[in-house]
Amino acid sequence: MDHFIYKNGALHAEDVAISEVAAAVGTPFYLYSTATLQRHFTVFDEALDGLEHKIFYAMKANDNIAVLRTLAAMGAGMDVVSGGEYAKARAAGVSGDMIVFSGVGKTEAEMRQVLAGGIRQFNVESEPEMRQLSRVATDMGKIAKITLRVNPDVDAKTHAKIATGKSENKFGIPMSQAREAYREAASLSGLEVVGIDVHIGSQLTDLEPYRQAFTKVAELAEALREDGHNIHRLDLGGGLGIPYERSNEAPPLPVEYGQVIRETLGHLECEIEIEPGRLIAGNAGILVSQVIYLKHGEGRDFLIIDAGMNDLIRPAMYEAHHDIIPVIEAAPGLEPAPVDIVGPICETGDTFSKQRAMPPLKSGDLVAFRSAGAYGAVMASEYNARPLIPEVLVQGDQFAVVRARPTYEEMISRDTLPSWMES
Ligand SMILES: *Cc1c(COP(=O)(O)O)cnc(C)c1O
Repeated sequence: MDHFIYKNGALHAEDVAISEVAAAVGTPFYLYSTATLQRHFTVFDEALDGLEHKIFYAMKANDNIAVLRTLAAMGAGMDVVSGGEYAKARAAGVSGDMIVFSGVGKTEAEMRQVLAGGIRQFNVESEPEMRQLSRVATDMGKIAKITLRVNPDVDAKTHAKIATGKSENKFGIPMSQAREAYREAASLSGLEVVGIDVHIGSQLTDLEPYRQAFTKVAELAEALREDGHNIHRLDLGGGLGIPYERSNEAPPLPVEYGQVIRETLGHLECEIEIEPGRLIAGNAGILVSQVIYLKHGEGRDFLIIDAGMNDLIRPAMYEAHHDIIPVIEAAPGLEPAPVDIVGPICETGDTFSKQRAMPPLKSGDLVAFRSAGAYGAVMASEYNARPLIPEVLVQGDQFAVVRARPTYEEMISRDTLPSWMES
């Protein structure tokens, strides 16, 4: 459930009319609902009731500082994958002991940054990374707490670009090498082994891959304990999918996912860490755009809108579906008709949907892309010199711009001329 609903035919986020925000900030823009973010966090928290657990929001899904603050205030920690994300988490007021550091290519500079600033644990993805981290920590007079991310070689049955748990993927250490890697980790002076990490992919719509992966993790945990390691944390990653196409998708619920965790891992009495991103932020956000033209082509109509693939790349990158709805509901009796919904960018890939049944829309009308709160704004670019679009946060009957649209001057001033050119 979310808080985007029609009231008297006008789309609202909580108690704020979307058309009012559009009039104030201009289109296109992203808009997030505080109550929905809070609700999604609470649903996860309750799904793990009875298990000792912590939720580390995967901030790569949406790293706006106001979003981070909202979640941190609920008790969320952060899963970060870069020095920049770590800096943003800290800027949002999250303490180091509530941050875990994931990622396949952590640099020495990033290791130094987070060791100096404080970190709960590193989720280490390879032997070379583990050796480097031990060197850096020892050099700084610190001990880095680590899990090793294992690759369980399971098929997450999701889009190939976001499946991460097959042996052909770049992530983690193969199960078959895990005990040896843990043996080496335990021998390194700068490290303290605290647990195991696994993350098999994103937008999972089936629990079976989780069950398979967690079962393998449980077996490994027992073997590692026999080897003398103090395994007391299990970081299970994120990845639970959300319904993008409301009319025909019903991914598993967090409570069912929690049940799989209990059944496969509960007996180990470890602290459970999970890293949901999409499920927290995805359906808490929309992208609002305005129709520029309705163009009649040969055999098909094109709805040309002012948002482009630079603003929301998911359809171009992952063939992703977003429900697209009018901000003002169509009058009863008006028949939907198929249109191609496209952006203004000079690429055919800048197509959001082909032959989508839409109510009649005309120039100036507003539409909203649902499920745009995760992997939306964070993946945006300024391709075609289109400034990054603003982000708005709603709470109750209030809204605030939480990232302003840069002016052309601000965008241009980031480029500088070399000394050999005349200014
Ligand atoms: C991307 C990622 C997540 C979050 O995935 P979602 O599908 O957004 O829940 C969690 N952990 C790691 C290590 C990731 O790379």
